[in-house]
Amino acid sequence: MSASPESVKACAERQSSCGVTGRKIEYVLDLMRIREQIRTLVNRCGDCGGRMVPIVYGYPNPELWERAEAGEAVIGGCVVESTSPSRVCRNCGKAR
Ligand SMILES: [Zn+2]
Repeated sequence: MSASPESVKACAERQSSCGVTGRKIEYVLDLMRIREQIRTLVNRCGDCGGRMVPIVYGYPNPELWERAEAGEAVIGGCVVESTSPSRVCRNCGKAR
């Protein structure tokens, strides 16, 4: 389980119990912001800025079907090559 900004703030409010104080909290929150920004960038299409979703290869299980129907993933099929893309843009369909 990873810490959310909320849980870090909650922790800051009871500093004595966890020992993380002052500037350290700001530092951790900065790291979280940067990580979130990178995640957002990585998940955006370089051409249109649309949302990229992962292409999942292999025989699809029920969970993958559900995720694909919800638009959170794309079923890539059973054949995987070294050049197979790992993500596809939901907006323009560009795979990379
Ligand atoms: Zn796109």
